[in-house]
Amino acid sequence: MNNNEIWQSVLAQMQLHISKANFSTWFQNTEITSKDNGKVVISVPNVFCREWLSNKYYKLILKTIYDIDNSAKELEFVINAQPVKSFDPKILENEKNDIDQLKFDEFKINKETNLNPKYTFDNFIVGSFNELAHAAALAVSENPGHVYNPLFIYGGVGLGKTHLMQSIGNRIIESPKKKKVKYIASEKLISNIVSAIRSNTMESLKNSLSNIDVLIVDDMQFISGKVKTQIEFFHIFNSLYEKNKQIILSSDKPPNAIPELEERLKSRFEGGMMTDIDYPDYETKLVILKSKLQEKNLKLPDDVLEYMALNIKKNIRELEGALNNLLIYYKSTNNIPNLEITKKLLKSFIFSPFDVTNYKKIIETVAKFYNLEEKNLLNPTRRKEIVKPRQIAMFLLRKELKYSFPDIARKFGGKDHTTVIYAYKKINQEVEENNKLMNEINLIKQRVYSG
Ligand code: ADP
Ligand code: MG
Repeated sequence: MNNNEIWQSVLAQMQLHISKANFSTWFQNTEITSKDNGKVVISVPNVFCREWLSNKYYKLILKTIYDIDNSAKELEFVINAQPVKSFDPKILENEKNDIDQLKFDEFKINKETNLNPKYTFDNFIVGSFNELAHAAALAVSENPGHVYNPLFIYGGVGLGKTHLMQSIGNRIIESPKKKKVKYIASEKLISNIVSAIRSNTMESLKNSLSNIDVLIVDDMQFISGKVKTQIEFFHIFNSLYEKNKQIILSSDKPPNAIPELEERLKSRFEGGMMTDIDYPDYETKLVILKSKLQEKNLKLPDDVLEYMALNIKKNIRELEGALNNLLIYYKSTNNIPNLEITKKLLKSFIFSPFDVTNYKKIIETVAKFYNLEEKNLLNPTRRKEIVKPRQIAMFLLRKELKYSFPDIARKFGGKDHTTVIYAYKKINQEVEENNKLMNEINLIKQRVYSG
């Protein structure tokens, strides 16, 4: 890859880490001007960019370059007030259009409902990993308040919860029945409740919510531990529920796994329809990639798409991010990336369990998931509530990290590795028969791999 191509790949990376507006502020008119003896010189338009990039993004930029070219050792930012010539003006124009488009999209968020019109059932791809959630969502959109109430959708990040919930809302507001829909992120709702408590205006907050027909609250897990907010939300929930108003909730875990959630709220959440979204399978990932490409009017070679579907495992958001990476490359070089280039450009997306997961991560995640102390998980015990999480942790160490049984036994303070073999076999078999357990393990895995 030449300097320009390398820089394009850095730009694509950076887009994943900062907002589009920031991206255009700090990265427009930047380029690699030279790369000698391990020193990469990057030209930037002004002193602010230099400070900002070198303070905040030095490591990430260097790492991205290093992944492509192992000789890179350090960066130097130099100020070059001239517009960068190697940038095709057409590209800048395109980028600008993208940014305008983005502003336009943000602008289009419906002020009254908070719904983003880009999330619809029409562009939501269905596969075995999400078909139950999709079916439930469709049913709710056709008959809000009467089929599943509440609808509770859970699953790891980037798997389509927000997209699906907003699709319901967008479908409902299209219908002639003129239902009043409100989408709200739980953080926002929580902060509204907290300030209403503080300023003694709870009544008016409740009034403002009382005429809503469909309330959609995203990422409910954040209500964990917020005692007063939970009490108020319980009342809000009830008053809507009693009037047959539809409530739709999402969370990164099922209600019974949300720590410090009031029992009565938990049973409310579980009282309607609970449905999860899992990881997409290979075939569906291919379909998703193809449909996103179609939206953008672009074609990529089949082997590139297959490579992406096979190797990007984290979630659908990553899949989109990787695709954007390739699009940026295409726009800036006018070459359709082939498989070889793709492998380089997507290096940071391609996930290997051995890179991102390790022993510590698994133990930590399992303990957190079951609300246990790590040391309790590791010490031999017969306490029932610990035995199962212990077995699951052993199972995952074996399955995901290929630890040997004796190694696992040592980690868990035991001398006898037959206990570990027993645990592994037991969980392995139970997973096949017990949906609840399979769900739990999938959720733990999602969490282990998502950051
Ligand atoms: P979550 O809320 O679970 O974190 P999002 O709904 O934000 O995930 O989805 C992440 C991205 O992936 C979004 O851009 C969304 O449009 C896209 N996406 C998720 N699921 C699908 C799907 N089934 N079909 C098409 N795009 C999807
Ligand atoms: Mg979301």
